[in-house]
Parts: sequence; C-alpha cells; structure tokens
Amino acid sequence: MNSGRKPPTALLPSDRADATVEVLLPLPLYGTFEYRAGDGGPLSGGRFVQVPLGNRQAIGAVWGAGSESVAGDKLKTITRAFDAPPLPPVSRRFIEWVAAYTVHPPGAVLRMAMSVPAALTPPSPNAAVTMASDPPDIRWTAERRRVVEAAEGLPRPAAELARTAGVGPGVVAGLVKAGVLVQTALPAGVIEAPDPDRPGVALTPSQAAAAGALRDAARRGYSVNVLDGVAGSGKTEVYFEAVAETLRQGRQALVLLPEIALGAQWLDRFRLRFGAEPAEWHSELGHGYRRRTWRAVAEGAAPVVVGARSALFLPFPNLGLIVVDEEHDTSFKQEDGVAYNARDMAVVRARLGDIPAVLVSATPSLETIVNAQAGRYHRIHLPDRHGTAASPPIEVVDLRRDRPPRGGWLSPPLRAALAETVGRQTQALLFLNRRGYAPLTLCRACGHRIQCPNCTTWLVEHRLLARLQCHHCGHSQPIPVVCPNCRASDSLAGCGPGVERLADEVASLLPDARLALATSDTLTGPAAATELVRRMEAHEIDVVVGTQIVAKGYHFPLLTLVGVVDADLGLSGGDLRAAERTWQLLVQVAGRAGRAAHPGRVILQTHMPEHPVIAALAGGDREAFLAAETSARRSAGLPPFGRLAALIVSDRIEANADRAARLLARQAPQHAGVRVLGPAPAPLAVLRGRHRRRLLVMATKEVAVPALVRRWLEATPLPRSVRIQVDVDPYSFL
Ligand code: ADP
Ligand code: ZN
Ligand code: ZN
Repeated sequence: MNSGRKPPTALLPSDRADATVEVLLPLPLYGTFEYRAGDGGPLSGGRFVQVPLGNRQAIGAVWGAGSESVAGDKLKTITRAFDAPPLPPVSRRFIEWVAAYTVHPPGAVLRMAMSVPAALTPPSPNAAVTMASDPPDIRWTAERRRVVEAAEGLPRPAAELARTAGVGPGVVAGLVKAGVLVQTALPAGVIEAPDPDRPGVALTPSQAAAAGALRDAARRGYSVNVLDGVAGSGKTEVYFEAVAETLRQGRQALVLLPEIALGAQWLDRFRLRFGAEPAEWHSELGHGYRRRTWRAVAEGAAPVVVGARSALFLPFPNLGLIVVDEEHDTSFKQEDGVAYNARDMAVVRARLGDIPAVLVSATPSLETIVNAQAGRYHRIHLPDRHGTAASPPIEVVDLRRDRPPRGGWLSPPLRAALAETVGRQTQALLFLNRRGYAPLTLCRACGHRIQCPNCTTWLVEHRLLARLQCHHCGHSQPIPVVCPNCRASDSLAGCGPGVERLADEVASLLPDARLALATSDTLTGPAAATELVRRMEAHEIDVVVGTQIVAKGYHFPLLTLVGVVDADLGLSGGDLRAAERTWQLLVQVAGRAGRAAHPGRVILQTHMPEHPVIAALAGGDREAFLAAETSARRSAGLPPFGRLAALIVSDRIEANADRAARLLARQAPQHAGVRVLGPAPAPLAVLRGRHRRRLLVMATKEVAVPALVRRWLEATPLPRSVRIQVDVDPYSFL
C-alpha cells in the first residue's frame, strides 16, 4: 500500500507495458494500491478497473500514476478495465475533499460513488424489447394485448414490461418468439429529455424576479443562492426555472430532497413543467433502475436527477446546478459510516465544479442565514404566499390552565377545534414527535422501567405490533405479561403519549372520523408517502396523526387545522440545535394548514408559553427568534460561530473503551483556539452492545479541525477492538 498519493492526472504515460498505476479501492483503508497497467493500453485517471486483491478480485478506480518504486515483479497486473465512462476529475477531487473533511478514508467515500458496480458493465445489446416494425398476425389473448399496449414508447427490459402489463415473463417471451416484439439495446438515456421551454405557471412579479436571479446564476459559475420563502410561496416553481436554464445550457441538474418528500406530488409537478420524468435516486428503487440510472448519469444521458442525499455522489460528467430543497432538514445529515451533511457537501461540490447551488427552505438553517448575512451566500426572498391563502395565525394553549381530561393529551380548545374541523368536512393534522404508543413502560407495583438490553434507553411500546422496541438499536421484544422485576401481573402501564395513543384518543373523541398514522413506521418510503397523499387528496382521511415526517413539503388543500400536541418536546434536550429545530418544525407544520382556499388554524399546546421559541412562534416573529438564537450561539462559541467535532470511542468491553478514551484525551491537541471536552459517557452510554465514550472538540472558526483530528488519531495508536467514529459538525448528540 502506498499512502504517498500523487495528484490525479488526466492521461497517464503508460504506453509501456511495465507502467504502473495507483488504484483506489472502495474500502475503508487509507492509501491506494499500485498495479501494473498491463498491455491493455493507456489507462486514464478515473478509469474503473478490476484488480487482484489477495486471493480475490476487487473493483476500483485508477487514481494516479504509479511510483514504479516497488520492485517490478512483485506487482500484480490489472485484470481488466471496464467499458464505462471514467470517474470525472471533479468527482475525484470531490471524493478526496469529502474524505479529508469528514476524516474518513477516500476509499470509504469512493464506495458511495460506486454504489452499483454492475453499472460498470455495459448493458447487453439485447437488454430491452420493443415492438417489431411489422408484427406478424398472431392469436391474440387479453394478456398479449396488454403487453402490446404497454410496449408503446421507448424500449424496456422484458421483466419491466411484463410487470407494467401485469403478466408473467412467459407472455413477453412468447411475443418475442412470435416476432411481435424484438430484442434491442436499452436506449442510452433512461429518460425522455425534459423540455425547458414548455410554458410553466404564470409567475407573480416577485416570483419572476426570483426566477430571473436564479436564471442569471445558472449562466455563471460558482455561487450559493438561498431561496427563502414561506410554504406555498412558489419556491418549487421558481427553482424549476433555474433547472430549465441549466438544461438550455446543455448541462445536468441535480435536485436533492429529503427522501420522504420525493413522492408523486413533486414528480407530478416536474412532469407538468418539463413534460418528462426526471431520473430518481433513492433507497426504494430496484437494482435494475439504479443500474441504468447510474450509467445514464455517467454517460451524461440523464439531464435531471432528483434524489436523496446519496445522489450527490453520482458520477455527473457535466453537472451545471445543484438544488437542495428543504435545506434545513436534518435528514441530509448522514450519521453512519462517512458522517457528512449533504447540504454542506453540495456547496463544496458546486465550488469544485464551479457551478451554482440553490438552497431552498421556508426556515433556512442558522448556518445558511449567517452565511447569507456575511455575504457569502446570496439571499433571494419570496415574500408572499401564492394566491389568496394567508399564513394562519398561531393560537397558544397554556396546558397549565387548559388541562386535557384525565388520561388524555388533547386540551379542551384543541378538542373543540378538531370536532369543528371534521364537522365542516375539512381535514386536521395532529403533530407529535413520538413514534409508538407510549415512550416508557413502567411497573405500577415496583416502579421498574423496561430498558433496552443493548442501550441506555427505555423501550418504546408499539401497540400495533404488540412489541416493545428500542429506537436506537432496533431491539424488539414482545410486551411482557408480568413485570420482569417483581413478577406482578397486570402491573405494566405505558407512560406518556406516542402517536398511536393519540390516535386512540381521537378515535374515542370522534368515533366516525377516519384516521391515518404517519410515522417512519407507516411511511417507509416514497411509495407509502405517495399513497398517503392520494388518500388525503381524495378526502379518505379526516385526521392525520403524525411525527416530523409529515412536516415536509406536502400540499393538502383541505387541511385547515394543525394541532401541535406538545410544542415543548425538543426544547429541553441537551442538543445545541434543539430550539432551532423546534422552531423549524413548528413553522413547517403550521405551513401545512390552510394552503388553499380554506383558511387555516394552528393550535400549539405548551407548558411554557413564555419560552422565547414559543413566544416568537406565537408572535409570528421570525427575526426575533433568529436574533435570540444567533446571540446565544455566538456567545457560547457554538456553530455556526465555532466548530465542533465529536469522537465516539467504543468497545464491547467497558474498561477498554475507558482506557482508549483517556489515552486520546491525554494526547489531545494543544492548539490555540481548541478545547477538547471529555471523555464522558456518550448520552447513550451503551449502544448496540458497545460501550461508548465521547470526546468533543470545540474550536474557533479559523481552526482546520479535520486535519487536527486526523493528526491526533494517527499519533494515538489504539487496540484493534476499539472503534472510533469521527463526526465533524455533529447534529445528533446521542
Ligand atoms: P413552496 O415550494 O414555496 O412551498 P410551491 O412552489 O410548492 O411553493 O407552490 C405552492 C402551490 O402554489 C403549488 O401548487 C404551486 O403549483 C402553486 N403556485 C405557486 N406559484 C404559482 C403561480 N404563479 N401560479 C399558479 N400556481 C402557483
Ligand atoms: Zn414490577
Ligand atoms: Zn437499544
């Protein structure tokens, strides 16, 4: 292994068969591996290759010229080079940048960029079927007719055609045999070309001004533009104009959305504007679709990609624009593996590619607001809600005065509003950021609380599944019949509300109302989200009870009441962004109400109406909230005014975790402007059976924290059993 890497070169001088190249493998190891190029001819940087590794084969990318310093005959030779577009230089620089910033090996980042290795092999020339130009007359069945109808348009894989037509694969094969369908290659573009010049909606003057600014940005190089406007102000329509301009320039556009917002509503609007489908990129897509999409992106044949955070690592050769919609959303932060924030890395990718980025939100993050105030980002403000719909007023219910009835969580004013809303044939949303039935199960006889065996958390009762679950490690067990501590029977009781319990309360209050639960347990991906939207639009639902998952950019015309059941949740946690997140969530949730012709109401239940966040919300005073939050963060030296990095040291054996954490603390960097806090037991001291200790690096803005952490870790040898997860700019303090 060679860690003295050379800068990637465009074309390597490897016309000699003994020339060597450095290959980066998608493995969590530092450094590249050197191979003899072989007689396959010159290998350019970024070319995907298969190489022998130990006694197996691995796939990686050529990263630079070899040193040829290793004794020639010890080197192995590249097995083959793939017939696929090489990883573009900008992608390679991006991988290195992300690796350095997150303190993870470049190979771990490369792995995210080559998530579908099968795409490196060109599709077979017979991968698709299409109608024959002169089909023979055959015996027609209903199934065969359905296939022929479904075969209209671009050639498609036989299996996909069979699925669309709702027939078995044999029917399609039979039609190929009969000569009605013929085999052909898949078209290079998976997708029809979106047409930027189809007329969009007639923009209002302020929307048109914003669109003009974005169109200008799309014609120039790097810039970061913040599109800031309340829910319903037309941000999506406006950034579509930036996408259109990018298409006119002949370049690719990428739109990042929180995965759950990537449903049919967004796709329908895209189709309306551009007359074609974008390519999608998220976890629910089948392998075949991902394979074709990856390849189409690499070949420059996918003009627009809409995807979840991982789409940022697709190998775009000609990217001209990145939009991050709902930029404040914390689901852009990946915590496992390479810990990165896709919003921040999108800005980096834009800078490396010298292209514009657009950050879109009704509640931009404090980081983004501060960058805009400092002039680094360009703020584009959409002042009005489109059409007649006004932002609903926010009514605060003081739970200390207006108490819910015994055993319930809905106060009399919220109960009355619910009944009235449903009675008027409109819809209500009750928001509570707690999954399951009850967050804690307690024995009334002995006081025992049921804890996760792997983690320091309480198990959450999920009554629909009849199980207790840990929301951190996924541990799940049946609800015990007797208390595991004192063996008393019928003594276990759920404490506190979850959405399931709230739904029970609504059901007994309004027995005829049609209820739906919307949580990550029920909305498992875009398809389920689409189904919820359809049922809402068809008015098959009267009341939705949901967690933060319903606070994304949905648009429900009949929704007129939003009830926030516990506005205080989240204000009490030890998380530096707790107040900001609560603020964002509440503004987003409130933005669900009354978006169309029906005026809306928002009711907020709280025990602390005087809290600055609640008071700012009730007063609709965004500037007051932001000013208070900004000065609190600034005086504490917290992001965005300072830098943080978390190191979680873990081991199955507690003493080992302690020893390693103490050793790291002793070796902590002595550097002006840097403080290292800890070690302390991480808030979840035990997670998935590993004992965890946390060190927190706090630094001033000027400090290059990643390089500092990397040097620190390199200088501190630790036993192999100890794992260290580095999280630069942490969001979760679990
Ligand atoms: P945001 O993204 O800010 O929440 P949207 O772009 O989703 O706002 O717009 C909200 C709704 O208003 C959508 O149904 C959209 O099609 C519609 N809309 C926005 N601007 C216009 C306009 N100028 N003319 C007609 N409909 C519009
Ligand atoms: Zn007990
Ligand atoms: Zn657990």
